[in-house]
Amino acid sequence: MAELTIRQLIMQSITGTLYSSRQLAELVGVPERQVEDHLIHVAKSVARDRTRRFVLEPSRCGDCGFVFRERTRLTCPSRCPRCRSEAISPPRYGIELR
Ligand SMILES: [Zn+2]
Repeated sequence: MAELTIRQLIMQSITGTLYSSRQLAELVGVPERQVEDHLIHVAKSVARDRTRRFVLEPSRCGDCGFVFRERTRLTCPSRCPRCRSEAISPPRYGIELR
């Protein structure tokens, strides 16, 4: 029951906006790792819902602007494959209402 509540809280928090898993962890008060687990389920349930769409803004390199488009995992990559920079912005998540 507690998990459901946290998941619902996450869904509410990202509806109409974008947050990184770190920001969500602070917002709902659970470890970032748990937020990522919840987001996987949130993405699946939103995918079945015709009224909403799960949005994933990919990670981006802060130095060269490389965008990690092909990345399907929800965790943040540690290093840019193009310039080797570690200044990577985390992916952000949201739910759009159709
Ligand atoms: Zn780069």
